Amino acid sequence: MTRVVEARHYLTGLKHSLELQPGTEYHAGPLEWRLAAWNPAHNANSNSASCWIAPALVDVQINGYGGVDLQSDSIDLSRLLKLCAALHRDGCGFFFPTLITDEWPRMMRRLAFLKRLREEHPFTRGMIGGWHLEGPFLSDRPGFHGAHNPRFMQDPTPAHIEAVKAITGHDPVLITLAPERPGAVEFTRLAVSEGFIVCLGHTDASIEQLRECVQAGATAVTHLGNAVPQNLHRHDNVLWRILDTEGLSASLIPDGVHLPDPVLRSIWRIKGSDRLFFTTDAMAGAGAPPGRHRIGHLEVEVGSDRIVREPGSSNFAGSALEPAKGVQLAAEALKLPWQETWRAFSEAPLRILNKSPARTAKPLANPRCCLIPLAQPFTPSGIETILMEASTSPF
Ligand SMILES: [Zn+2]
Repeated sequence: MTRVVEARHYLTGLKHSLELQPGTEYHAGPLEWRLAAWNPAHNANSNSASCWIAPALVDVQINGYGGVDLQSDSIDLSRLLKLCAALHRDGCGFFFPTLITDEWPRMMRRLAFLKRLREEHPFTRGMIGGWHLEGPFLSDRPGFHGAHNPRFMQDPTPAHIEAVKAITGHDPVLITLAPERPGAVEFTRLAVSEGFIVCLGHTDASIEQLRECVQAGATAVTHLGNAVPQNLHRHDNVLWRILDTEGLSASLIPDGVHLPDPVLRSIWRIKGSDRLFFTTDAMAGAGAPPGRHRIGHLEVEVGSDRIVREPGSSNFAGSALEPAKGVQLAAEALKLPWQETWRAFSEAPLRILNKSPARTAKPLANPRCCLIPLAQPFTPSGIETILMEASTSPF
């Protein structure tokens, strides 16, 4: 059975005829259609198109989703499939499971276990594009450590790189660290030479420390504007230092809460769309009804306002943002067409992370695209995520 769909390219608006074939019907997980051919439409009248086509959303910071916590030691294949299916439903076709700070041996056990689970199923293999370790090499100072437990933080060493490599092999790995940790610059240089992507975050680094890490190969700042104390020196603070550091890209959480609209707009103006990409930093409560959820040891509450609160604290503990909802909120906040913010959440993360010196040999590639209803204004519903092969990719 073949489906023929007329779709407009999300950036050029040009109409194309898509030939879709049924993909693998997974035992658990969605039936995915596969883009088999992509041709310019004979009839250029775009009114007859039924949808937009865009690359699937890419999220390199997923702590949990759809009621499933990736920090949990009781995760199994059915729960990992549930998480992947929920992300897929919400427009994300490629993501990095993210492990936050814990005792190092426990983090490595979790990583090894998730890696084994990923290999067990074609759907998890296709959805999981790499691994993100956010910690334990972060600032342990109040306000900077955020929801991470400072007790388990430590300085990065070459032995840590070996331990991760022994588990992940040739998989892409992103490590977020604080440049002020002793050994961070040497670690960055070595990690990048081993093919890792290094990002900076949960940090109060000096301008020199930031620059040294960028020279050593660090690519971006993780969730810029967050993981900083409520009260900062108005001039001498890490946000200005990061904005002043050339060559440093950044990820942003566009949920309207982590970054108020004027802050998001200002960062956008200063850094520019070439250097920014979006992430949800989602935890288990994203893509799930409001209620209590866990991030490892931490119990958090997701309210009806979709804000994730650590009980008794003003800290945010990840977000409950769905990726396609982030596209909509960012477009509203930045007063941009949704196509621009979709690009910042799909093509931009891969373009920026592929610039990381050692990644050029084996670039990250998006295996999926999305069919998006033509409805105006954009809403994050009715999106269909489908497989595409490099040979038929319109992007
Ligand atoms: Zn964080």
